[in-house]
Parts: sequence; C-alpha cells; structure tokens
Amino acid sequence: MKFLITLFSFFITTLLTAQTMQVGIFYNQQITSYTVSVQAGRYILECDGDKYGEYKSDNIFYINLQDGKIEIRDKNNQIGSFKKIALNNADKNCVFAIRGISPSTQTIEYDDAVIFEVADNKLKVINHVDLEKYIAGVIEAEGGYQAPIEYYKAQAVLIRTYTIKNIYKHAEEGFNLCDNVHCQAFHGRSQRNPEIYTATSLTAGQVLIDKDSILVMSPFHSSCGGQTSNAGMYWQSDLPYLQGVIDPFCNGLHNYTWEKQIPISDWYSFLRSMGIKQPENYTSYTARTRQKFYINNSPQVTFRQIREKYGLKSSFFSISKNETQIIFSGKGYGHGIGMCQIGAMEMARVGYTYVDIIHFYFQQVDMTDYREMELHRY
Ligand SMILES: [Zn+2]
Ligand SMILES: [Zn+2]
Repeated sequence: MKFLITLFSFFITTLLTAQTMQVGIFYNQQITSYTVSVQAGRYILECDGDKYGEYKSDNIFYINLQDGKIEIRDKNNQIGSFKKIALNNADKNCVFAIRGISPSTQTIEYDDAVIFEVADNKLKVINHVDLEKYIAGVIEAEGGYQAPIEYYKAQAVLIRTYTIKNIYKHAEEGFNLCDNVHCQAFHGRSQRNPEIYTATSLTAGQVLIDKDSILVMSPFHSSCGGQTSNAGMYWQSDLPYLQGVIDPFCNGLHNYTWEKQIPISDWYSFLRSMGIKQPENYTSYTARTRQKFYINNSPQVTFRQIREKYGLKSSFFSISKNETQIIFSGKGYGHGIGMCQIGAMEMARVGYTYVDIIHFYFQQVDMTDYREMELHRY
C-alpha cells in the first residue's frame, strides 16, 4: 500500500511539473562515492528535507555511501549522514559537475538540481532537470553536435515524443527515465553546439501524434542505407506511420555501406542451430529491398536474428562466399526504422525544414503541443 501511495504521489508530482524531468543518472553503475561541485548559479543544500545552507560556485561536496546512509561534507565541514540529500537550484541557470570516485568516472556537467537517495543499500542519483534542457542533452548524445539546425529541430521533436510517451517508464524507481540506451542516452548537459538548445527552444512542447491523436513511436537510426524499414520487418508488427521509404539523401554518405566476414563453418553451425537441415544451400543472396525473413519456410530465419548473432551494423545485407568465408555486404547502420539521421542531416543541409524531414520519414502524423494533450493519449 505504501508503495502504491508513493507511486501515486510520483504520478501527481510528475503531472503537475511535467516540464521538469527526473532522470536516473549513472544508472546501473553501482558507484558508492562522488564529488559534486557547483559550476554556475546558487544551490540550496537540503539534508533529509531540512535546509542546510546556500552554496555558490567554487564549492565542492564529497558524498559517500556508508552503512546505508549518505555521508556528506563540503570543503570545510563534515555535514553529516542522511537518507536523502538534495542540491536544489535557486536560480534559473544552475550547473553542477559530478564525478564518480569509487569507481572513478569522468567529470560530467548537468543542468539544474541533483538528488541522492539510498535504495536497497545503493546510492541513487537523480537529475531534476528542465525538460527542454534534458532534450538538448539527449540530442547531443544521440544525434551528434555538428549538424544544421533544422535537423536538430526534427531530432528534438522525436526525442520529446519518446520522452513524454515513456514518462512513467521508471516510475517504480522514483524517476522518469534512465540515462542509458534502455531509455535514451543522456551524458550530461548539451554544451558542444549552442544551436542544439536553440532547436529545442524553437520547437518547445512539440510532439508527434498519429491520426487518432495518440503519441507515436518515434525511432531513429544512423543510416538506412537507401531505404528505411517497415516497423514490422524488424519489430513485432507494422504501424501505419512507420512504413519504409526510399531515401536518396543518405546515398554514399557516412555509414552507407559495410562488410563483415565470418568462417563458413560458423555460418553452417548457426543455421543448423536454427533448425536448417542443409545450410550449404544458403551461401548466396542479393538484397535489393529490405525483407524480414532470410529463410521463410519452417523453420524461419530473420535478418534481425543474423544481425544480432554476428553483431552486424544493419539487417539489410547481401550474402556471398569465397573459399573459407561467408561475406555479408550491407547497407546502413541501425534498425532502419523511422528517421535516418544521416539522410535527415543532408535534407537540412540542402534546405528542407524540420517539418519536411519529419513528414518524409513518418506517414500520417501531425504535430501538437504535449502540454495541450489529454493525458490518456500519452
Ligand atoms: Zn531506462
Ligand atoms: Zn537514409
């Protein structure tokens, strides 16, 4: 019951402050001590709910998990041991830097507030961050930092759509999303290209909905290799707004083609393990269009299974052999569904807008502001 109440109050808080995200950072890293330093703005330190003091830049905290409690000291004093420590931002533009000490990590800068909590004798770190600043951070981690602004705007809309659609993904752990690819990669604040944050601001609130006004799945990948994939070719089933398109924009650019070789004996034993009786019949294939099945009798073998078995860059490839090796000659990098990032960058470079880019890769979608949506349509 207590758990349900916690969960319920989390939902209510999240709804009321939907423009602030709670992101589990250093998720799954099992770090037991950190240093945190104030980089910009004023912070209020709260220990177990009580205000301890105000800090400006040039302050550093040492935080350590000890006997199920969080020990904290600043550069002058031992502050104490607590269950929960919050460094709340008192100004609009506050930045802190954090570094794992045990085990050691790089120093990473984040915007806004940070909370430390103990759960199951582990130290949990949650970044409370403005939603648009979070989106800029994800764009930088997932989308590169040297691209035209219209590409960043398209990327912002897709990442925001995912964020709102999955806002309760980690609710049981007391935050919204984690910082690794289980949700979306988020490696701190965006700081390598100011256009990224400009792009999120200019599209603030915008998300993609389908014809029933429900938030869509909004995937993207590095390169489609000339054609994107129907959702059902790679996932369980098709979606009306995720149908493959012929993409001339990524042609010949980064990640367009790849090749990988494996020993023939390896290939045969893989096919046998999949139930194929005569694997020597399967050494030649020409990929003209994307397909779901490489072998579509019973048993079946999908291109995705082959990709995952051999760590291939994509599931869009031809097969040939020489004396000793099977040769996979492929196109594209990633699952191929939704927006092709390399193609989208090229579209932006030659003058298309982010709205053009989105409608090129997604069918029958509209844009709306999530702050005006009914919640059940998330
Ligand atoms: Zn996650
Ligand atoms: Zn492409």
